[in-house]
Amino acid sequence: SHLVDRIAAGEVVERPASALKELIENSLDAGAMSVSIRLSGGGTGLVEVADDGLGMSPDEMTLAIERHATSKLPDERIEDVASFGFRGEALPSIASVARFTLESRERGSDGWRLEIDHGVKVGEGPAALPPGTRVRVEELFERVPARRKFLRSPRSEYAACLDIVRRLAMARPDVAFTFEHDGRRVLSVQPGSLPARVAELLDPGLADHGLPIDLQRGEVRLGGVVSLPTFTRGAADQQFLFVNHRPVKDRLLVGALRAAYQDLIARDRAPIVALFLDLPGSEVDINVHPAKTEVRFADPQGVRGLIVGGLRSALDQAGH
Ligand code: ADP
Ligand code: MG
Repeated sequence: SHLVDRIAAGEVVERPASALKELIENSLDAGAMSVSIRLSGGGTGLVEVADDGLGMSPDEMTLAIERHATSKLPDERIEDVASFGFRGEALPSIASVARFTLESRERGSDGWRLEIDHGVKVGEGPAALPPGTRVRVEELFERVPARRKFLRSPRSEYAACLDIVRRLAMARPDVAFTFEHDGRRVLSVQPGSLPARVAELLDPGLADHGLPIDLQRGEVRLGGVVSLPTFTRGAADQQFLFVNHRPVKDRLLVGALRAAYQDLIARDRAPIVALFLDLPGSEVDINVHPAKTEVRFADPQGVRGLIVGGLRSALDQAGH
């Protein structure tokens, strides 16, 4: 399929934020209840993700860093794959463009460490860590001029990383996340309800003033919380959309939002939006190509109608 072809092209890591996304998704796939992220220099100096998930045996660790060794791509259709990862490509790709340390420990076993330097194994041995996995990526792209020259400033790489962490933290309110950048704690959230998580991540005021959305049409469900247009720094980065609990940036959905708010949106004001659309796999094709997320709906007009109608009536009830 086209997806497999794109995977073969190996376009997994194009910037620190894409490496970070892959690592966090792996932690979530491994059943982590807590994910700790440390970054320096916008991720160009260090990207570290530690989790309390299932961990790996030393043999599994070796397999994990060998290209294509662990693909979870099953016989089932791609759209029915529930977990984030399925390519068996992320870790080998990242390890080939950085200094890469993988430490892991299964419950009831001892920890093990693998060190890879630009794709070459340079060390391994026992490691002391709590059950779970810790991945450290240093000097990302430093020896890969073709990639390095496309990096933006550490500041904008950091912003892209923060965006990834916020989206994944919003998708999984049941998981604790901490995020440190250049030694400074920028985010720390404990497991809780979705509305509580959204309020914590976006605006504490949402807990009181947010408009809850909870609609069902046939097998399609729309949930989440939105606000009236509020002053925001940048309109775009306060709008979070999820399809089947995957963060997406999708034209149709963004267009539906704009239509729902239409005259309410002024130039300096934008709403805070965290919307979760859940629908059967047969109704949606989420192309999880690493560099972008495209969504195709079997019934785009139905989806659009649900969102526009749902948001309009929530806004009307709030007196607008
Ligand atoms: P994929 O996630 O597509 O299988 P990855 O390269 O991202 O490929 O990861 C390879 C494999 O390494 C995973 O399938 C998983 O078995 C293992 N793995 C990676 N990260 C973790 C983690 N944080 N905890 C446990 N296992 C992991
Ligand atoms: Mg993965």
